[in-house]
Amino acid sequence: MKNSTRFSSLLLDWNRNSNDRQMPWKGERDPYLVWLSEIILQQTRMEQGLPYFLRFKESYPTVRDLADAPEDDVMRLWQGLGYYSRARNLHHTAKQIAYELKGVFPSTYHDIVKLKGVGPYTAAAISSFIFGERQAVVDGNVIRVLARVYGIDTPFDTTDGKKHFAQLAQELISVDHPGEYNQAIMDFGATVCTPLSPKCGECPFAGMCVAYNQGLIEDLPVRSKKIVKKERFFYYLVLKDEKEMVVSKRSGDDIWKGLYILPYIESDKAIRRNIGQAVSDYLGHKVKVAGYSKPYSQQLTHQSHQSVFIFVEGVDLQNVHIDGGVRVPLDKLSTFGFPKVVHLFLVENSLL
Ligand code: SF4
Repeated sequence: MKNSTRFSSLLLDWNRNSNDRQMPWKGERDPYLVWLSEIILQQTRMEQGLPYFLRFKESYPTVRDLADAPEDDVMRLWQGLGYYSRARNLHHTAKQIAYELKGVFPSTYHDIVKLKGVGPYTAAAISSFIFGERQAVVDGNVIRVLARVYGIDTPFDTTDGKKHFAQLAQELISVDHPGEYNQAIMDFGATVCTPLSPKCGECPFAGMCVAYNQGLIEDLPVRSKKIVKKERFFYYLVLKDEKEMVVSKRSGDDIWKGLYILPYIESDKAIRRNIGQAVSDYLGHKVKVAGYSKPYSQQLTHQSHQSVFIFVEGVDLQNVHIDGGVRVPLDKLSTFGFPKVVHLFLVENSLL
């Protein structure tokens, strides 16, 4: 048996006999719902993404429902999932499919990959699951499995590495069952050949796995560069009276675009002194700092955030003029979508 045929038949056997990973979109025939699940699961663990998928499916059962929804509603439903450009692209693409393509989802890899927010991985998943096209998915799970089974030490984040893994994945994918194969390799990487402590004892590839047989499991796959995270310090201003609070909508190309946050001062290092002066300068008149929240820390893939919320006294909200700033009745705050840390602060301070 050819090596590639052996790999795919071992994988399909494992899938049919041992894989019991249940997910609500498995076996789904509606490309809209598969697309929705794939976008939600990008950069997101299954357990975290699942409730979001169910909420979106319930709120927007068809692509037309999603297309017709106000952007603020979509962003609010996405709140807490991070990588908010996904939600904006999702909404944009839903409109494109609903209106320009008359509600018909594209049916080939070639056309699906042209949709905004859809990369090769998602296009391969949709085209293979729904339309039976032989397009291999390549993501971190797949790279890990292939690097270990075939002992590949080419760094996967280089041009050569990307090409190498994409070619091998395409060579290995089952001719007769490409959708099942793609689903199986994702599940296998997520449940058996995991980054730490893979379950080699129950692995069908153990006999042929180079990493297992040569003691290289912890060395594979290889990454060339270390991610250098940008550190950002956010000092959010709590500008409120008994009735209202100031929030502002994010625009521009930075993170959280489309969501609402509190007005803030940003720095690339911690501000230790004269924060009161910095707040007064920002607002354009003298105010008093009444207190601070605890620090909130958040790690994103390329950024590390430290946030503190500053309670400000002596502010006349009518005279706060901040770009994009709006006064919102306190009992309406829950209708806005906020990034995770801001949401957490508002909840912990009984404002949501
Ligand atoms: S033997 Fe271990 S390292 Fe190799 S593919 Fe199986 S689970 Fe992964």
